[in-house]
Amino acid sequence: MIFDNIELCIPRYYQPRAKLFKNLMGKRIIDALLHMPLYTIEKRRVDQVSQNDIGKIITTKVRVNCIDINLRSSSPSIIYGKNGSEIIEIVLFNYPKKYIKSAYPIGQEIGLSGKLTISPSGSLQFINPEKFAISRINESSGLFNIYPLTNGLTQNAIYSVIKGAIAILEQEPIEEWLPEKWLKKSGFPSFKEALRNIHFPKTIINSLQHNHYLQRLIFDELLAEQVTINFLNQRMRNGYTISNNRTYIEKLLGLLPFSLTNSQNKVISEIFQNLQSGFPMFRLLQGDVGSGKTIVALISALYVIESGFQCALLAPIEILARQHYQKIQKYFTQLGLYVEILTGNEKGKRRAQILDALASGEIDMLIGTHAIITEKVVFRNLGLAIIDEQHRFGVNQRKTFVNKGVTPHVLSMTATPIPRTMVMLLYGSIDVSVITENPANRMTILTRSIPMKRIPEIVERMQNIINSGQKVYWICPLIEDSEKLRYTCVTNRFEFLKKYFADKVAMLHGKMKTSEKETIFENFKNGHCKILVSTTVIEVGIDVPEATVIIIENAEKFGLSQLHQLRGRVGRGNKQSYCLLLFDEFLSNIAKQRLQIICNSSDGFQIAEQDLKLRGEGDISGVRQSGEKLYKTFDINNLELQEILPQFLDQISQISSSYDTNSKLLQVFQKL
Ligand code: ADP
Ligand code: MG
Repeated sequence: MIFDNIELCIPRYYQPRAKLFKNLMGKRIIDALLHMPLYTIEKRRVDQVSQNDIGKIITTKVRVNCIDINLRSSSPSIIYGKNGSEIIEIVLFNYPKKYIKSAYPIGQEIGLSGKLTISPSGSLQFINPEKFAISRINESSGLFNIYPLTNGLTQNAIYSVIKGAIAILEQEPIEEWLPEKWLKKSGFPSFKEALRNIHFPKTIINSLQHNHYLQRLIFDELLAEQVTINFLNQRMRNGYTISNNRTYIEKLLGLLPFSLTNSQNKVISEIFQNLQSGFPMFRLLQGDVGSGKTIVALISALYVIESGFQCALLAPIEILARQHYQKIQKYFTQLGLYVEILTGNEKGKRRAQILDALASGEIDMLIGTHAIITEKVVFRNLGLAIIDEQHRFGVNQRKTFVNKGVTPHVLSMTATPIPRTMVMLLYGSIDVSVITENPANRMTILTRSIPMKRIPEIVERMQNIINSGQKVYWICPLIEDSEKLRYTCVTNRFEFLKKYFADKVAMLHGKMKTSEKETIFENFKNGHCKILVSTTVIEVGIDVPEATVIIIENAEKFGLSQLHQLRGRVGRGNKQSYCLLLFDEFLSNIAKQRLQIICNSSDGFQIAEQDLKLRGEGDISGVRQSGEKLYKTFDINNLELQEILPQFLDQISQISSSYDTNSKLLQVFQKL
């Protein structure tokens, strides 16, 4: 059965690494089958490698000369070898160090497949190539896939599991779930045939436009998503009608140090129409970073609370949950309302007390992380479920959350600029509100790209900035230093800045304990420390109005949307803010153009669109965190996909209502 445990497909030799497979691909056999290749390469043989082959995917023989194993976990190991008179560097990221010596025996010839590139020092280079025994070079003329990897798994390992999974698939009858008419019209193959051809391709198909196999799977996944959304969004049910004098809201508006923007007011009235309608609201609130979504959520919550219901706000990370809690608590105390927080850190007695107060209805609003969707958390009458940064949660999590109430209203919030064409498809019949203007007191954040060598100048200026009571974020891409990649690490930067700013600088990264992170973040907020050197843990939602400068090191390593999110950490008060993108001097033209996009635009949607245009020209690395993928078969930013979408969308809207939640289709994509 394709829904059985993936372990059944893992050869005995790889069994000790079963957990890695599960983390990368998923727990079931079907998940292995839905682990999509990044691309297909032909094992075209090149006996004598030359500079002419740079940029091409080739297969060749290399004799191993020496090995430079780098013991730091994030740094690559390098193998030096020779092909004829050319020196070849083989750079291995995430390769288990203990296997390197046996996999690349010194003096022996090995077969390699991959894209030939050129290293910064000018030698020919393979990065994470596919490796196989020399005897196979002569016999192999076929095609093979390159799959996303994780630390500790090789292409061969992935391939062996997928091969096993395909064998099981072949045994299983799978009834067609798409209407015959559409199959004919679209030219789609069956589900089984699609999987078979994707994993054992007969030709290289470079464009999605011509890849009916992949199109079939994407269509299925989008359909499954749509069916789920229809299910989540049961408009036909009755919902709570919210109607009251808005006394809490009036009081809150009096307490706020600012007045709402027109755009906020408009969105609020859209939300209120839903709340008053008698049907459960299902609305997505989109708004750029800093556009003021939280206050909209809070006002919606107060409206619902005044009618006697409870509200809940789900946030993806603890720091964000605490930040919401602190802000909201301040207002709630003045309004005589009771807000609580629940995260993994509320334990024992405290947790029990919160759960009691929640079940009895004493708590008006609960804010928290994933902890609030666990089983024991029971509301008396949840009237409004708010999901912040909703793309961080899977459909299942969102559903579990919403099911904490009988028919609660649902407000999802996101700053992720999903391309306009995708919104309809991904969210289907969901209502969408967009905050289109930023608060009036906001100044544009001045964004500049600056070479790293100007760091001393920046440090000098930072002195004035912190002397005037403002604060600085300094973002580094990786935790550990790795010379060879010229990344800068957060610890080194921290030590460096400490020399100038002593205890005014603090460090924050993902590997710290939550309590530690909180203390540090708290110190930054209350001004004990003025400079926060951090990894991207601060990316979502963090709000410190006195922070006016954000410095992002190795900016070229970040995605543009991520840079835009990071930049949104400043410019939240009424002072001129700055974003400095530090880059390495060896920057490709495309990379420079990308940074220029950020410097020239402050519109998240525009940035996402421009980014798409430049993408595809860069390199695809074989290693990616697949756990972060929202969808199994596609990437929402795929430009080609957007071209075929309208057709898909049309068809999906016609057929999605005829599927129910027991459908095999939904099981395949694990939507319920
Ligand atoms: P986001 O939309 O990114 O979640 P927030 O809700 O965190 O943004 O708001 C960013 C900052 O802007 C907060 O400090 C908030 O208090 C402030 N803010 C929200 N609305 C307004 C407004 N209408 N005028 C001025 N400041 C506002
Ligand atoms: Mg926010």
